[in-house]
Amino acid sequence: MRIDRNRLEAAFNELGKIGETPNGGLTRLALTDADRRARDRMVAWMKEAGLRVSVDRMGNIFGERSGTEALPPVMLGSHVDSVPTGGKYDGQLGVLCALEVIRSLNDGDIRTRHPVTLSIFTNEEGARFQPAMIASGVLAGKIALEDAYNATDRDGIRLVDELERIGYLGPEPCVPRPLRAYLELHIEQGPLLEEEERSVGVVEGIVGISWSRLTLRGIQDHAGPTPMRGRRDALVAAAEVVRAVRAIPGQVSAAMVATVGRLEVSPNIPNAIPGSVRMSVDLRDPNEEQLTRALALLDRAVKNAAASEGVSHELTHYWRVPPTPFHPEVVGAVERAAQALGARHRRILSGAGHDAQYMATICPAGMIFVPSRNGRSHCEEEFTAWEEIEPGANTLLLATLELAQQV
Ligand SMILES: [Zn+2]
Repeated sequence: MRIDRNRLEAAFNELGKIGETPNGGLTRLALTDADRRARDRMVAWMKEAGLRVSVDRMGNIFGERSGTEALPPVMLGSHVDSVPTGGKYDGQLGVLCALEVIRSLNDGDIRTRHPVTLSIFTNEEGARFQPAMIASGVLAGKIALEDAYNATDRDGIRLVDELERIGYLGPEPCVPRPLRAYLELHIEQGPLLEEEERSVGVVEGIVGISWSRLTLRGIQDHAGPTPMRGRRDALVAAAEVVRAVRAIPGQVSAAMVATVGRLEVSPNIPNAIPGSVRMSVDLRDPNEEQLTRALALLDRAVKNAAASEGVSHELTHYWRVPPTPFHPEVVGAVERAAQALGARHRRILSGAGHDAQYMATICPAGMIFVPSRNGRSHCEEEFTAWEEIEPGANTLLLATLELAQQV
């Protein structure tokens, strides 16, 4: 039992035309006309495949293939929205592999005990409406529907109004529902699979994330007449913190990553000693305790840097997402599927967020990664070869058969 790679490739090429950029990438922001056309295309294909299609109040689209028993479905999903000048593989590939799995089940006249449902989640990227993964967040009961409806884009347009405008403000309640499992195929968006020449990543979970914000205040003064002695330069202290953040993972865990991505220097002119600096710190690790240890190291580093330059500091750890371990049963099903196919695979963690993160709070969830060339994503260069997509899609098929219990 295998998927039909040519059919998958043809669907990918067709859907990829909707919102295609001149350089072969994709600009298909959530709830734009391009998003609507992609949704319409998917719905038509889902109906052709005999699925019972429904849309919920967040515009999430579901297509159910019946099982032989009245049991909760195995859900296969991802998203069709993209970031601006993004790639064609992020999201779209997962949705199309799920469709191909269903088409293959139809071809083989395969019956499963549990229904198999394809799902397409609204606004996964968070490029147009924040936060990201807003619709799976509502589905999982973690974000209030009202808050999601009132999210606005840069032009002040509300999410709910755009849902209505493109015809995807559905009638189904967007609430937690019984699910046998949730499974999502996605590109890795990192370099590990490619480096090790493996085509399937058995995703064990999504790392925890901590965001901090730091303000350093020194003394702003003229860059000329002020001697070097006695300067209280907020940027010099910030530079020390940047170096310290870079060194934190080395002291905590091999899996940790740490980034200062934003730096606002004031007054940010050539002839003034910087009076204040605001900066961000993004820490990620699969282990909650390691994150806590890292934050303690950050606290100390900031204190030391501030003291040595004689500046004051204000550090707040304002956002934290705990690590999401995926369900051993689903991870096991994916691993067994990859093994049965003889696909080169390894266990891996996701450093980025996905809808599977919210789904994991309401049902056993898991993911399958396929390699990203040069580890790149959210850009037009995003690419995965069909030789690598095929084993990933077949892994999705076999894992689905196991979880939905082929009869
Ligand atoms: Zn994605």
